[in-house]
Amino acid sequence: MQPSDLPPAASLAEQFPPEWEKLLGDWGEPRYRALQIFRWIHQRGVQNPAQMTDLPKRLRDKLTDAGLAAPAHVAEVQASADGTKKLLVELADGKQIETVLIPRGSVAAEDIFASDSEEPRDEYTESADFRSDTLEVTQCISSQVGCAMGCAFCASGIAGLKRQMNAAEIVSQVLLGRATLEGSSRLAGIVFMGMGEPLHNYNAVARAIRLISHPDGLGMSLRRMTVSTSGLVPEMDRLARDFGGQVQLAVSVHAADTDTRSKLMPVNKKYPLSEVIAAIRRYPVPRRRRLTIEYTLVRGMNDNEQSARSLARILRGLRAKVNLIPMNPVQGTGLAAPDDTVVDRFQQILRDEGLDTFLRRRRGDDIAAACGQLALHGEARKVRALPLV
Ligand code: SAH
Ligand code: SF4
Repeated sequence: MQPSDLPPAASLAEQFPPEWEKLLGDWGEPRYRALQIFRWIHQRGVQNPAQMTDLPKRLRDKLTDAGLAAPAHVAEVQASADGTKKLLVELADGKQIETVLIPRGSVAAEDIFASDSEEPRDEYTESADFRSDTLEVTQCISSQVGCAMGCAFCASGIAGLKRQMNAAEIVSQVLLGRATLEGSSRLAGIVFMGMGEPLHNYNAVARAIRLISHPDGLGMSLRRMTVSTSGLVPEMDRLARDFGGQVQLAVSVHAADTDTRSKLMPVNKKYPLSEVIAAIRRYPVPRRRRLTIEYTLVRGMNDNEQSARSLARILRGLRAKVNLIPMNPVQGTGLAAPDDTVVDRFQQILRDEGLDTFLRRRRGDDIAAACGQLALHGEARKVRALPLV
């Protein structure tokens, strides 16, 4: 898929260089300004035209009049002792989302990588500017304000969908996150595991991925981006088609039989487990890569030994690793994590069946920064905040 196949930009801040060229041409401005403006926004993270100092004042004013402005700003930063940072990001209409910066080796990093050796390092370590003293940071980002999928265990799901985010807003949270990095930290990857179902906002997410990977922008390779989905089958296929499998896929499976999955994830009534598994099987995973199966363990629902064995059976032969996540408590769900012994047994069965399985045991105060735990603010907020250090 090329950027030109996407629907028109929803805002100036999410235009690709050719879209800028067209607009600037209409304004009678030289075309080379297009790349200049694009780089200001996506390379330097400057979205206020007044700060684009190498543009003539006339053009800066024109851009401001046309509505180019920062789509979001940071309302609050919370930092945990292990270096994880959670940003509360406010969008232009006052709606708020959260994004989390997760340094390698932190508690929260286990959530997404499960094991340090799991994270693909090839391109990065091979790149010329790799330095061993660089601290790699992964950013967990939101794609919607709230979520329409209504999963029984999820804070975002309980709140419902407030509205879609546009690509400018999605990218802006990444630029704002990068701006908070200090010292030798470097933004090394992005995971769509914050608030929202990314494939339920496909066009904006696809545009955001293209913008983030643009060589005149952040220039992040597609393989360093992971889309986590509750299993929207047509959009999984579309992602495979549009990006040729280069974007990493994580699928929230959460059950080994379709009835249990429907109880936990209403979306299963539309796209049942068997269809989701079939879509996973056709996803074109590049060589030396694996996709991720996410399985949130919920006491008495999907945590019995039979489930573990069935899960191993339906995943057999798949190039995948399994991330087991004992459910994080979310008030009002009436659901809870299983006891540790049950969790250990579940993991052991999967391992015995030959599946690479990783476990993340949630602990105390880092909880609210863990991907998948991001809550809407206001009365819908259910999850405890990180302590400020
Ligand atoms: N909507 C996407 C991505 C965001 S959620 C998806 O569902 O995949 C990221 C992950 O966190 C998902 O696997 C989700 O099921 C998981 N998650 C959500 N709430 C959770 C909770 N209370 N405990 C543990 N994992 C949770
Ligand atoms: Fe939405 Fe994912 Fe939460 Fe389900 S788990 S409600 S799909 S954010």
